Amino acid sequence: MCGIVAYIGHRVAKPILLEGLKRLEYRGYDSAGIAVLEGNKLNLCKAVGRVSMLEEKLENKEGFDGSLGLCHTRWATHGGVTDFNAHPHRDDRHGIALVHNGIIENYAALKTYLQEKGHRFASETDTEVLAMLISELYEGDLEAAVQAALREVTGAYAIAVICEKEPGTLVVARKGSPLLVGIGNDEHVVASDAAAIVAHTTQAFMLDDYNVVKISKDGFRTSDIHNTPLTPKITQLEIDLQEIELGGYSHFMLKEIYEQPKALRACVSGRMDLREGRVVLGGLTNFAKELTKARRVILTAQGTALHAAMIGRYMLEDLVKIPSTTEYASEFRYRNPVIEENTVVVAVSQSGETADTLAALHEAKERGALALGVINVVGSTIARETDAGVYLRVGPEIGVASTKAFTGQVAALALVTFFMARKRLMSADQCREFMQEMEAIPGKIERILELDSKIKSITEKYVERENWLFLGRGYNYPTALEGALKLKEISYIHAEGMPAAEMKHGPIALINEGMPAVFIANRGRQYEKVMSNIQEVRSRGGHVIAVATEGDNEIRKYVQDVMYIPDVCEPLSPLLAVVPLQLMAYHAAVLRGHDVDKPRNLAKSVTVE
Ligand code: GLU
Repeated sequence: MCGIVAYIGHRVAKPILLEGLKRLEYRGYDSAGIAVLEGNKLNLCKAVGRVSMLEEKLENKEGFDGSLGLCHTRWATHGGVTDFNAHPHRDDRHGIALVHNGIIENYAALKTYLQEKGHRFASETDTEVLAMLISELYEGDLEAAVQAALREVTGAYAIAVICEKEPGTLVVARKGSPLLVGIGNDEHVVASDAAAIVAHTTQAFMLDDYNVVKISKDGFRTSDIHNTPLTPKITQLEIDLQEIELGGYSHFMLKEIYEQPKALRACVSGRMDLREGRVVLGGLTNFAKELTKARRVILTAQGTALHAAMIGRYMLEDLVKIPSTTEYASEFRYRNPVIEENTVVVAVSQSGETADTLAALHEAKERGALALGVINVVGSTIARETDAGVYLRVGPEIGVASTKAFTGQVAALALVTFFMARKRLMSADQCREFMQEMEAIPGKIERILELDSKIKSITEKYVERENWLFLGRGYNYPTALEGALKLKEISYIHAEGMPAAEMKHGPIALINEGMPAVFIANRGRQYEKVMSNIQEVRSRGGHVIAVATEGDNEIRKYVQDVMYIPDVCEPLSPLLAVVPLQLMAYHAAVLRGHDVDKPRNLAKSVTVE
């Protein structure tokens, strides 16, 4: 689930490996480790905590100057966070070292079998079982042993393996967890994320499930686990190094909040034909007929992407008049869902690797749905497995707490909505009006960002409080959920988001003197109703922080604090209303002294179910 970097080539591997690992730090992890083959000797070093701790440990260590090595950041699934459980795992019979992202589901049975064969285990992980199984099956050919071992395991993996007996070979493989091979001059860099490769080469290919690649300094061979040769599709990585660097900001999250105007301009650019009053989505053109015939839309996702999906659902029902629902992908997958004819399933995911969403997608396709993807990472697994889709084009998102990908998802879903609505009931004029609203969004976000210091001082007033409520109605009920999630994720403050009316049905019992309640109270169809809910909180001593529409001076009489956003049409209002909430969460975390880009327990893309 976390980070893998491996190197084989003509240079000293260690600095390349450690630099790559640092570029993956944003994904969240709890320990790190490295193995380098120097001459014919394998040397390992591991440390609980940050990559910098591993670097410190390595400082005076000898034996790490070879040109073949691998390293890992672990996000523990099986076994506590200890040096022993950190990767790489090694086998002493043949001198094999292995790093692994994912979960070996049948590890318990395999472990018993291997123990009977005399293997001794040093860790509690599922991963070490795979290292020992490869060793057990090793007969002088590492590639063959890896293939044989992978035929025996179930679960998800991206792995990299080296062996003392084959000092010119690196073997990597994948099922369910991403892995890329970067091709340089007389060198190869393998990583679980393109961010660790682009400093060295932009030529790369992504492994497909069950691919095994045997790599040497100057060549590689791709096959499947049954040793059938395959030809990988080499592409150009389109990531600019600048995009994955801080560029003067103190945190990636803040940088990405501020990048939203630019990101949303890129998201809609070339996709809105104002003259003709229609949306042009290259990824959907071939499926226009199916989308016109569609009778139901199911949007499926997890976390922040689910909140974007919920806003998408409101837009689809409101503007396309098509029955739409949202589903936690994890629940959808396992509850025997009913999929009628002409159903479109939309998978929403920043990384395109979210395991739950991928599993839901497989289920939906199995049952005959047309599968669309709303994805940020180009060429990711979900993007490749959907029938059609729309890329967000917001650039790499490094911050663990998603911000620009959320607004990108909402904007992309708005484009899908206009695209479908235009084919059914929306006139060119209406569509043009919405598109003009969309064009104005980046400029309006810039205006909200100018209020950052005001938002920070409001946050300061409440930052010591341990319980917060986030309330909204209609289009901004999902925004309330997202505001609460942001606060939880990085500041570890307990926050609940819910429809403003729901509060009366129980949660109102929580309100005590001074409890912060954030209301999204912009002008719209439900404004009056939201105002009543505000009164209910105030009467019980709660302190209300309102997100309100510029010019609404009246609201100041009823709330403690106001964060203004420009006026906007209702369907697109979450794109603005969420921005002050992102900034609040950011400031709360910084004020509480937390590392915003490395929130505890979280990983950037959740590639295990
Ligand atoms: N399941 C493995 C472990 O707990 C790998 C975790 C990961 O993906 O980092 O060690």
